[in-house]
Order: sequence, then structure tokens, then C-alpha cells
Amino acid sequence: MRRNALALITILFLSSLPLSAGDMAVRKAILGSAYAEHEGYRVLQRICDEAGGRLSGSPADLRTLQILEEELRREGLVSRQESFSMPGWIRGDDAVEVIIPFRKRLRAAALGYVDRHPPFESPLVWGGYGFEDELSGAAGSIAVVSSESPREKESPLRLEVIENAARAGAKGVLFVNDKPGGLVMTGVSNFGGKPSPVPAYSITLEDGLWLRRLLEARREVRGRVATASRCTLVQTANLVASLPGKRKAKIVVGAHVDSWDIGQGAVDNGVGSAVLFEIARLFAKHSRTNHYTVEFVWFNGEELGIWGARTYLEQHARDSIVAMVNMDMPGRPTGVNVMGFDEFTPMVRALMDSLKGFDWSGGIISVPWTNSDHQPFLLKGIPSFTVMGHLEKESVFHYHDVGDTFDKVDRLALVDASAGIALLTHALANNTSIEYRIKTVPERIATFKASGMEKRLRRQKEWPF
Ligand SMILES: [Zn+2]
Repeated sequence: MRRNALALITILFLSSLPLSAGDMAVRKAILGSAYAEHEGYRVLQRICDEAGGRLSGSPADLRTLQILEEELRREGLVSRQESFSMPGWIRGDDAVEVIIPFRKRLRAAALGYVDRHPPFESPLVWGGYGFEDELSGAAGSIAVVSSESPREKESPLRLEVIENAARAGAKGVLFVNDKPGGLVMTGVSNFGGKPSPVPAYSITLEDGLWLRRLLEARREVRGRVATASRCTLVQTANLVASLPGKRKAKIVVGAHVDSWDIGQGAVDNGVGSAVLFEIARLFAKHSRTNHYTVEFVWFNGEELGIWGARTYLEQHARDSIVAMVNMDMPGRPTGVNVMGFDEFTPMVRALMDSLKGFDWSGGIISVPWTNSDHQPFLLKGIPSFTVMGHLEKESVFHYHDVGDTFDKVDRLALVDASAGIALLTHALANNTSIEYRIKTVPERIATFKASGMEKRLRRQKEWPF
């Protein structure tokens, strides 16, 4: 992208102006409360232990919204549930069994939108990475597919494998997990909310390797699949709390509140929900009125296809939204991603320079990415930001499995994330040096093409242009 040199110099000059004494005092107050009070961690524990894993529309999901409302009220913040319905999914008592060479029930998790069907028995076949040609002989069988990446080409996405399998006439797909230790990985089977054309499950690496050895030795393997999970329309809500600013135009700060059901959704994305709560609390206490209106949004339906963020934009189509900050599994801040809105780099740089106590070794990057709540905002050309963060290995190891529980959350990383992202939000909400500007459609398309986002969205059938 070419840039107007004069404009750049102006931006550099303006953004290097020193902060007012008032702004400095507010920042220090925010930092002090973040480190001294840690309320987000307590709220996260409530979400995990009193509600649990939160598939959108489930009792746990609705209970979580109540907990957050209650906690926000205690901080003097009124929130509202903005209801909507979406294609939902209810996990049932599913069973994936091997019958030959001997009977064994596998640890297996159905992917989201796998719909109930009469139980069936069929042979298993090895399906490689799940490319079309690898599945050509899978008719009438259950294909066992590796989650490893092939050396020379990109792996097919899970939804592509499922389509390839269905097209070949396979009866089901078992995705072998790529992590050891009896882990499975839940996830969604497609991004359109449609019932999966064939049942698809995640199975453990250990079971997958066993089946692969048998199949490669040309031994007969038969399995049985019974799916009780089902697709259904569900009613849920985004939770919204606002702090009116001097201007009506708003900065949206968001995190998805829903999660997968088999764990507690602690790291994905209880942490983001708790950090968002902390930021709302810190603003209510120390920065109630800002230049821009600040809207805190706990989005629902993210895991099943970003339904909440998309609905929020529809329900607020007439509002002026000038920027968005998204938090999905935030960790100890290490950098900021300006996702193609490079005009904000000097401002972010100035913020980082004023916060030398943080480790900003990740620097500033400008890489639009997909599959979280900022995606629909990016597609609308709204300046969107995410803070890059470090999460310990043990925190992310159990991603989308039963082990994503409260005990995996590092309390201090959560506090660091709250403090760092609160200050970024404060800078955006009080920015008067750079005009927020929505990218035009050609500008968006150019950025998404250059970053690979176009390709990804096309493969996911989500490219809207
Ligand atoms: Zn997430």
C-alpha cells in the first residue's frame, strides 16, 4: 500500500505529542487497580465452576450471562442481553466403537453440527490427509484421517475433508488428533450452521495410530457409529454494556463468552470474557467518560460460527462503530496486531514506548486473521485490533478438550492482559489525533488478498465480496 508521506509525517508528529496530565493520571489509576484488585480472576472462577462449558443456548451459557450481569451491576455498570436465535447444536450421548478386530469404545467427540442418525456399522479405511484422491476408495466406509500437515502442500480444512468424504460416498470421518495423551479436539464441522453431510468425530492420536497400523497392514477393521447429538435452532444473547462518551461513535471491545462444552472453556475463552470484565470494571472506576463511547460486548455463538458478532453488526447497523478490539484467548501482552490499519502504528508505538514495563518483544504487526469475532468487523472495513499475547504451553495444550479448565489459567498473565488491553482501549477511546476511517471495499479486498485472508475465507465459504 502506498502512503501519503505528508500525512504520515503529520500522524507521527501528532501521535508523539505528550499525554495530558489527566490522561497520565487515569492510566496510572487503571494500572494500579488492575494489579491491586484482580477481580477478573474471581469472575472467571465463577464462570468456570458455577456455569461450566458453554455451548451457545445451553443452560451454562445463559447462566454465564447472568453471572456477568450480576458482577457488572456490582461495579455500577448496567448491561443488557441482546437476544438472537442461531443454528445451535446439542451434544448427545454419542458412541464410536471398533468392532473388529475386537470391541473397543473410542474416546471420541462429535464435531459441531454433526446431526443424529440411525446407528450404522461399516468397514474403516485409511484416508491419509483427507484429500479428494485419498478418499476415492472410501465409499460405504468410515474414513480415518490424519491431522498432521503434509510436507509439500497445505492440509485440507476439516470441512473440506468432510465434503471430500461425503462426495466419495463415505459414511463418516474420524479425525485423528495430533497431540498425544488421549486428547480429542472439538470444533465445528462447517461455518454455515448446516448439518454435517456425514458424521465426523475427533479421536485420540493413540487410537488413530492403532487403527492406521491395522489398516496399513491390510487387516479388516470394522466400526460402529451412533450419533445422538443434534442440530437445532437455539435462543441466546450477546451481553452489552456501554459507557457513553463525548461522541456517540463507539469503540467496541469484545470477547466471545461461549465455549465448547466438554471442558470449562477456561482459556478459550473464559480468559477473554474475564479480561473484558476487568476492562469494563477499570473503565467504570477510572475512566467513565471518554472521547468516544466505549461498548463492551460479550459475544455469543463464536465457536459455532461467529453468530453473535455478525448479529451484533446487523442489530447495530445504524450505529457508528469506529474501531474494534477483540480478545480471544489473550495472554501476557507481547505486541499489537493492527490488522491492516497501518495508520495506527505510530499511535500504538507511542503507547508501547510509554509502557516499558511490559515485554513488547512481539512488536507491532499488521496481519488480518480469521475465525474470531473481529472477522465480521474487518469485513466491514472497521479498524480492528488484537493484542498478541503469550500463553504458557500447559494453558493451551488442552485447547477444545476436557482439560480446558480453570486450573490452567495463569492469574498474573490474566492481570497483565487486563492492564495492557485496558490501556490500549483507553488510548483508542481517547484518540483525537487520527481520524477513524472505514476502509472502502476495494481497500479491504486488497488487504485481504495480500494477507491470505481471502483464500482462507473462500475455502471456508465465507468470502462476502
Ligand atoms: Zn475462542
